[in-house]
Amino acid sequence: MTEGQLLKLREKIETDNVDSFYHWKDWERLRQEVLRMDHYECQICKEKGKYRRADIVHHVKHLKDRPDLALSIWDGEERQLISVCKRCHEDLHPERTVQYRYGKKEKPLTEERWD
Ligand SMILES: [Zn+2]
Ligand SMILES: [Zn+2]
Repeated sequence: MTEGQLLKLREKIETDNVDSFYHWKDWERLRQEVLRMDHYECQICKEKGKYRRADIVHHVKHLKDRPDLALSIWDGEERQLISVCKRCHEDLHPERTVQYRYGKKEKPLTEERWD
């Protein structure tokens, strides 16, 4: 991630406009790379000995907390981007599910746009 990208991303977070990050070409490229690296397998289900196809890439340290890691597969020794299935992703973002359930949002954000 370049300094310019980080500045742009911080600005998006401040203005509550993070969705556009998910349209960045760099993100799309990286997302594909992570999915390939994990063989399109949900890493959380895998830990539980189950197999589920992943189609979402999740920021372990949430985008809003660590924009500097938004385009990093690794944070030191640990994975920062992991492939997950829809169900596991919902568990990873309970705050979003609650918002949706209580009707604060017009409609649910698509999984792709969740951080
Ligand atoms: Zn899963
Ligand atoms: Zn996520």
